[in-house]
Amino acid sequence: MTSFDEQQQPTMEQTENIKCTSCGGNTEYHPETRGLKCPFCGNEQAIEATYDQTVELDFTAAGDSRNHLWQEDTRVFQCQNCGAESVLQANVVADFCSFCGSSHISITEKDAGIQPGLLIPFQISQDQALDKFKEWIKGHFFAPTELKKTYRLHKISGAYLPYWTYDSQTYSHYVVRVGNYYYETVTHTVYEDGKARQVTEQVQKIRWHQESGNYEQFFDDVLIKASSTIEPKLLQKVQPFQLSSLTDYKLEYMSGFLAERYQTSLQQGFTEAQGMMKSGITSGIERKVAGDIVQVVNLSTEFTDITYKHILLPIWISSFHFNEKVYQFIVNGQTGKVSGNYPISVMKVVFLTISVLILLFIVYLFIDS
Ligand SMILES: [Zn+2]
Ligand SMILES: [Zn+2]
Repeated sequence: MTSFDEQQQPTMEQTENIKCTSCGGNTEYHPETRGLKCPFCGNEQAIEATYDQTVELDFTAAGDSRNHLWQEDTRVFQCQNCGAESVLQANVVADFCSFCGSSHISITEKDAGIQPGLLIPFQISQDQALDKFKEWIKGHFFAPTELKKTYRLHKISGAYLPYWTYDSQTYSHYVVRVGNYYYETVTHTVYEDGKARQVTEQVQKIRWHQESGNYEQFFDDVLIKASSTIEPKLLQKVQPFQLSSLTDYKLEYMSGFLAERYQTSLQQGFTEAQGMMKSGITSGIERKVAGDIVQVVNLSTEFTDITYKHILLPIWISSFHFNEKVYQFIVNGQTGKVSGNYPISVMKVVFLTISVLILLFIVYLFIDS
């Protein structure tokens, strides 16, 4: 039987904090309508999507400014099992970790840090995420047949994952090694049937020289993941997100969902972004300089007009239990793309291998006779 614990649902009442205008109950953000919906009286309230926070923030001023920190009264909870840190409103208590299901959660002294300016609101509902999961697990031939009937699905939670985006103007001075092809006619002697014969052919050679120059490039919205709670491989598979849907962060969108606190600092994130920009600069120079082979041997880059944004991206996270093991899966809260880990049926693999071997043997007998 499919045991998907009914009494464990819904899981998110802990994070609710916007009151229903009609009955005073706690409302939830509703992905289908992108508004608030009261689970008690069904009253719906629209959320006005605004775009004031799309402005870039000054990176160099971020260090000493106390601006852009969480304005609301928040607390940071940490999971003792996987280390994930969630930012929750002060009146809210977390009783399990959305990332690994553990109930070993404690409040930390940490402040919530820089407040996200923008987010992509959930567009996939919890039910849709569940359907996506069922479809996904059915599609895996090598998963044990039993799994499809008896997996125990854990709570499915909607979490906003923290990201940084960086802009920067760059000025680089480069030294490149340039190779150009030329051809030489080479004559050599071959011996055939005891007779010598002259053969000429074109041989490709490379002439090298060094040159240097300046290169300018502007980078817009280099996206850096600010936490590693979710396996990077899984996260990679549900990307991309359509960043054009970013809207202002609002408390309403968080109702029923949680935000993970960033683990990569603003500064660390920029160091990572610089690495990505540098490889962009390197390939830009390689395209710009004329030559058959262009190798950058020296590059010094100045980064100016650096700005950043702190954004949140929506992910449904859950895990399921099968044969004493836990497997994590995630659904992109914007596009519905799924990825996850799943058990492989040894029996199915062995059976298929044996079948193929028998088939090959029969074919062999047939050809041989
Ligand atoms: Zn109500
Ligand atoms: Zn955890």
